[in-house]
Amino acid sequence: MSYVDEVIERIVQENPAEPEFHQAVKEVLESLRPVVEENEEKYRRDAILERLVNPERQIKFRVPWVDDKGQAHVNTGYRVQFNSAVGPYKGGIRLHPSVNLGIIKFLGFEQIFKNSLTGLPIGGGKGGSDFDPKGKSDREIMAFCQSFMTELYKYIGANADVPAGDIGTGSREIGYMYGQYKRIRGLFEGVLTGKGLSYGGSLARTEATGYGLLYITEELLKCNGHSMKGKTVVVSGSGNVAIYAIQKACELGATVLTASDSTGWVYDPDGIDVAALKQIKEIDRARLTEYKKYRPNSEYHEGRGMWCIKADIALPCATQNELTLADAKLLVTNGVLAVAEGANMPTTMEATEYLQQNGVLFLPGKAANAGGVATSALEMSQNSERISWTFEEVDTKLRNIMVDIFHHIDAAAKKYGFDKNYVIGANIAGFEKVVDAMQVQGIV
Ligand code: NDP
Repeated sequence: MSYVDEVIERIVQENPAEPEFHQAVKEVLESLRPVVEENEEKYRRDAILERLVNPERQIKFRVPWVDDKGQAHVNTGYRVQFNSAVGPYKGGIRLHPSVNLGIIKFLGFEQIFKNSLTGLPIGGGKGGSDFDPKGKSDREIMAFCQSFMTELYKYIGANADVPAGDIGTGSREIGYMYGQYKRIRGLFEGVLTGKGLSYGGSLARTEATGYGLLYITEELLKCNGHSMKGKTVVVSGSGNVAIYAIQKACELGATVLTASDSTGWVYDPDGIDVAALKQIKEIDRARLTEYKKYRPNSEYHEGRGMWCIKADIALPCATQNELTLADAKLLVTNGVLAVAEGANMPTTMEATEYLQQNGVLFLPGKAANAGGVATSALEMSQNSERISWTFEEVDTKLRNIMVDIFHHIDAAAKKYGFDKNYVIGANIAGFEKVVDAMQVQGIV
């Protein structure tokens, strides 16, 4: 049995009931086959793959908090510190009822390669809780965040592990967590990113993942003889990533036809109204059913199904495994040109393969959504230097990073004979730097 197959088999056996983690490991290790085969003896001797797929540390803790009626609740908190070969652990905190150890491990594992691709010195980690922020009062959110940080603070620090936002963790939650960290540690340091501008946040961090997604998609299109101008786009999600992806797509001359949330989706033939979306989601924290009040011409549909809308580009920006094989078939039938992942692993493995086999240009999340963490690393730099860059400075750096990532993954795919397979390119390019750092640091 090959080294790759052995490690995949063992990870499935040793980590039962973690299907998302298995999926992420399989996707990455399958892509790495050509590199691993070239170096099999050395990698085996140094247990490179075993050390890559096993987190350096995984922390699980109780998060007790009291609701507005005086009722106590207990949620589970996680922080998985996956790999620190190239820098301090870095990765967001997901607050969603679906969170479990396997989901945090899949996200932390992906984060290693994504962070490496940014070219910045950040290792991979991820955290979260099965707490559901939906429908909670501000006081309840504060109570949860303070309790979560009262345990988490022991394991993080500006040079050790720097968490950020993710699903369910926005600027409000980061603010409460930062306040509690500062209170306990007595340190005003860059321990979290995605902070507010008044206490060390970076301009353009809010926009970064969505904008970065469009910068890299534009570069992909340019290098394949197209451009965003005049294109139609289907987007899923209506959170941080989706909103700023839609905004930048419009700025680049495209028309975005859809947005979704966890209960339904909207189709707006005249183009999604970003201001209305921001009002509904960022300010009112309401459902997308409200969208029709702003745009009477639009349609609201319960459930999922938006991938049936004909468009040139598809940008899944909500959650994992939201674009299935059946959806991929619809997109291909409708002549989609490119799919770029704003979310983490939103496309199932079968769907990804089908899209690639049918000539669709496909950018995986670890490259396409790396703009968020890249700008978080820029926030860390500004915090260390005690300065703030302008929006334009950060945005220009972000754009350059995304363009560089595209060329880096394109070159890695070509080097191993997989031209235009950006999944393989991203995994290999991300792996090369990490494996080099792991090898020179000895068996740790
Ligand atoms: P938000 O919480 O801001 O938004 C998430 C969106 O996806 C919401 O519209 C939400 O709907 C929808 N959603 C969440 N879970 C589900 C589900 N199970 N089924 C259908 N829809 C769902 O999160 P972000 O925009 O920050 O994150 C979106 C994705 O992008 C995630 O995969 C995240 O890991 C990834 N990502 C985020 C980065 C960032 O900087 N924020 C960086 C890199 C990746 P509802 O409003 O109903 O909750």
